[in-house]
Amino acid sequence: MILFGEMRMDMTLGDILRAARAIDGVADCTPLVPSPYMSMAIGHDFLLKLENMQPIGAFKLRGALNAVRSLPPGTAGVTCCSTGNHGRGVAFAARERSIRAVICMSELVPQAKVDGIRALGAEVRITGRSQDDALAESQRLVEAEGLVEISPFDDSAVIAGQGTIGLEMLMARPDLDHILIPLSGGGLAAGIAVAARAIRPGIRLTGITMDRGAAMHLSIRAGHPVEVPEVPSLADSLGGGIGMENRLSFPLCRDLLDETILVTEDEIYHAMQVLYFEDRIVAEGACVVGLAACLSGKATPKGPTATVITGRNLDMQTFTRVVTGQDIQLGDRIVKGRPYGA
Ligand SMILES: *Cc1c(COP(=O)(O)O)cnc(C)c1O
Repeated sequence: MILFGEMRMDMTLGDILRAARAIDGVADCTPLVPSPYMSMAIGHDFLLKLENMQPIGAFKLRGALNAVRSLPPGTAGVTCCSTGNHGRGVAFAARERSIRAVICMSELVPQAKVDGIRALGAEVRITGRSQDDALAESQRLVEAEGLVEISPFDDSAVIAGQGTIGLEMLMARPDLDHILIPLSGGGLAAGIAVAARAIRPGIRLTGITMDRGAAMHLSIRAGHPVEVPEVPSLADSLGGGIGMENRLSFPLCRDLLDETILVTEDEIYHAMQVLYFEDRIVAEGACVVGLAACLSGKATPKGPTATVITGRNLDMQTFTRVVTGQDIQLGDRIVKGRPYGA
């Protein structure tokens, strides 16, 4: 139980066990595999939770499915704002229930993600340059068209769904000492933290994000949600704010994470190459922030460690440029390329 302000929030392992039952059979129990290269690098077992293998190519299926399946009968339809993967999860879950889904996204979302959502039969609205603009459109649709909004991270059913990842990780490896969690709105980190703290209270939990636009990191520092400018990143799935009215994921991350760490675009670039060349995994920039934190020496695990490979819905053109060592243009900034091992 967590107390904050006037509100009392109960989020327990029970919620996560119920979510695990609700999504069983559609969202897969994914493998937790060793990375020999990273294990060598940190001197302890380093494991990868392969959420890139989920049916929609990302872990967000878990939370979205749990949320959509728990809506009352007669629900007309759902809407959400998304950097891409939550929208894909909601679209998948809405199709399963045969209800309407309208996914609102900003112009920063890669085309591959937009196409993936349309292919699931959802309507797509592209509005503005930020997640905040997409959120405003989603909230307008709640009023105008009677849709139910499902937040990508600030929703108890979504957080419980993401928490099933922590449950599975600790069932597979009860000896885990440290979990490195890619961090954006904090639904993933909050869910994993609720599960992991309940099962193994002393475990170390680190949230990791890119250094430009680190909304949760800066909000925890400030003691309240803050707005951050949204800029293009190799870890595009980690973009966007945490919402100035955040009720759940902010207090949970603030109270349950041991620390938050920031990594640079150069470190993300290198870690994408490591994951590809050493582990032969094709995954989004957002997935490798845990590797980047260890390889840069910013995180120093003291025992068996795991991170979540959160998704594979990347823009293949950018990915190809990264693995072939070419420069990457991110808005007005260039990430200098270097062939792997050179
Ligand atoms: C959404 C997402 C994250 C971050 O999850 P939050 O719950 O917003 O912190 C990380 N990686 C990928 C691929 C995502 O889609």
